[in-house]
Amino acid sequence: MTFTLSPGALAPGARIGILGGGQLGRMLALAAAGLGLRTHVFAPEADSPAFDVCAERTNAAYEDEDALAAFGASVDVVTYEFENVPARTAALLSDLCLVRPSPAALAACQDRLVEKEFLAGLGIPVAAYMRVDDAGAMARAVAQLGRPSILKTRRFGYDGKGQALVREGGDLAVIFRSLGGAPAILESVVPFSTEISVVAARGAPGAFVAYDVCENWHENHILKFTRAPARVAPETAAEAIELARAIADALDYVGVLTVEMFVVDPPRGSAGPQTLRVNEIAPRVHNSGHWTLGGAQTSQFEQHVRAIVGWPLGGALRQGAEVEMENLIGEEVFGFEQYLREPGSSLQLYGKAEARPGRKMGHVTRVAPAKPA
Ligand code: AMP
Repeated sequence: MTFTLSPGALAPGARIGILGGGQLGRMLALAAAGLGLRTHVFAPEADSPAFDVCAERTNAAYEDEDALAAFGASVDVVTYEFENVPARTAALLSDLCLVRPSPAALAACQDRLVEKEFLAGLGIPVAAYMRVDDAGAMARAVAQLGRPSILKTRRFGYDGKGQALVREGGDLAVIFRSLGGAPAILESVVPFSTEISVVAARGAPGAFVAYDVCENWHENHILKFTRAPARVAPETAAEAIELARAIADALDYVGVLTVEMFVVDPPRGSAGPQTLRVNEIAPRVHNSGHWTLGGAQTSQFEQHVRAIVGWPLGGALRQGAEVEMENLIGEEVFGFEQYLREPGSSLQLYGKAEARPGRKMGHVTRVAPAKPA
């Protein structure tokens, strides 16, 4: 078959390797299949949800170089569904095939200190932060940034793990040890009114498409609800998208990325604008973008796939007046039938065998119809 392709684009039937086999990998694989692309999922966990829906699977450790070599040789492009892939794994694969987003973009988002320095270097506002490598540095950082402040491990933090609040009276050495003494950063607490994120895609030739800025609520440090559009000033939403664009351009990014930000309201009685602080960058599709599956013209999963194979990006317009995504966590999934009965909602279940506390089992998307003109 002879397809008409833009320069650098892969043809339908191309093979996509996905590092990581969780629900994000599963929804990426499903979107790829919808575009006539084949996926090969590489994941260390034997019961990975993405294994159920891909053409090929490799169940091996990220350090298994023989398995990585075979995986890299079997695909045209490799991507990932989470950012804690070892740097050596990404580097090894990039000798064998395209890796998108690039290992350099991945590295910029794996370490909170590197990430903060990258953002600050671009002039992007972030919370005040200091590097903390030992108990002495911790004491100096708290003296400088004050309390309350938040200690975060530089690597492997997610869903509030690897974080400790430094309260008035808290013993600093004990707090530092509570995170295992790992290299960390201390951040001042941002007095935010709203947590938002920008989910956006950058295509191979630099095309950029952002979804509506959305608003996030967490319960027990785990995302519970996302709402699009975020209820922030239009100028704030526009500024958030410009920050995401500047980050994507600086990383020469290819794929979907998510930028989480805090919105700080002006002091009561002041007419000043809301301001933003970027909290973190996820170099991948993200839980706060799940609403786009059924709630936007093109889902974030399809958008990511289009970007990494070099195809035109899809429309990102929201469907309906507003869209809400609710995560089903742990045993909440047992009531799944009630969500199927809700008019205007759609349900995704991730096929996980066990509903452990805190585990993301599925999500519901509710599209509120547009109001009649
Ligand atoms: P993170 O792991 O950095 O995404 O942080 C998890 C959650 O902790 C965020 O969603 C916020 O609710 C809260 N948080 C993190 N950093 C800060 C900060 N500097 N100021 C206020 N809240 C924060």
